[in-house]
Amino acid sequence: RAKEAGKAQFARYSAELQATAQRRLALHNDLALALEREEFELHYQPICRIDGDRHRIIAVEALLRWRRDGRLESPLQFIPALEESGQIIAVGDWVLRRACRQLRRWQLAGLGELRCSVNLSSRQLLQPDFAGRVAAILAESELAPASLVLEITESLLMQDSAETLACLRELAVLGVRLALDDFGTGYSSLGYLKRFPLQILKVDRSFIGGIPDDPELRVIARAIIGLGHSLGLEVVAEGVERPGHLDFLHDEDCRYAQGYWFSRPRPATALEPLLRGECGFEGEGDLPGGIEW
Ligand code: C2E
Ligand code: MG
Ligand code: MG
Ligand code: MG
Repeated sequence: RAKEAGKAQFARYSAELQATAQRRLALHNDLALALEREEFELHYQPICRIDGDRHRIIAVEALLRWRRDGRLESPLQFIPALEESGQIIAVGDWVLRRACRQLRRWQLAGLGELRCSVNLSSRQLLQPDFAGRVAAILAESELAPASLVLEITESLLMQDSAETLACLRELAVLGVRLALDDFGTGYSSLGYLKRFPLQILKVDRSFIGGIPDDPELRVIARAIIGLGHSLGLEVVAEGVERPGHLDFLHDEDCRYAQGYWFSRPRPATALEPLLRGECGFEGEGDLPGGIEW
């Protein structure tokens, strides 16, 4: 009897394994065609300078989306597969070029000093002459290097290779700004904050969500903001969803914020009324929500 049960369990287990392997294979196959089928798109989320009751959009973060069989897939579902297969190099290139072109269009349309943030994977930084690639894309889109922010994560810095550091220095020399994303979630050594040429620290949204009710989160968020400021970094709070979050950031002198309260990530054209100041933020009830999944 035990043997029968064991057999059945094994069959179930191996069927599951097989299904997982098939899904992975299908994902990799679909992703391999996604670029040429033009199934990727960028959505943009504003990053604001918070100031009493007049918040100003100073930047947008480009966030990758994959339209697969009519549905929008979250980058969390497919970026790891792109990294595994190495396609992140080609897709990352597409993202950079696309974001730079869009930003240039917005700047020419009179939106002024707007910047754009683009997320990087470690594989991209490790390709030969990545900084040269970035310089070429900036030149081709006629964009000032200071308009571009590249977001990297602690895990990327943790590899702490001489190549990574050299590449980041080249980018800094170009005049591109570097932001440390999701700060506080990795196993960061604070030494990284000094060793790498960063200008911006993004406080992960896990420290913001429970504010103002959770006293421990308040202490941690305050400490991270203070750390960033003492190192001379611009501090951006991620995941700002409620007026209580904004009040806290204002009290802590944290000047920059990003989150659903301002706007969800949206396709370029859907963000334009907000960029042009023709409507208020989502949290003010002026921007209809619900575009994302
Ligand atoms: P991230 O860079 O930290 O981007 C912020 C994520 O938080 C986005 O998720 C955004 O939609 C979400 N978010 C923004 N405001 C709020 C809020 O108020 N509440 C909540 N709950 N979430 C908020 P998204 O677009 O799903 O992206 C997830 C991650 O995928 C990004 O995290 C980034 O690490 C990665 N990613 C996105 N696009 C790219 C890309 O082009 N290249 C690479 N390498 N990674 C990317
Ligand atoms: Mg980011
Ligand atoms: Mg982030
Ligand atoms: Mg994050």
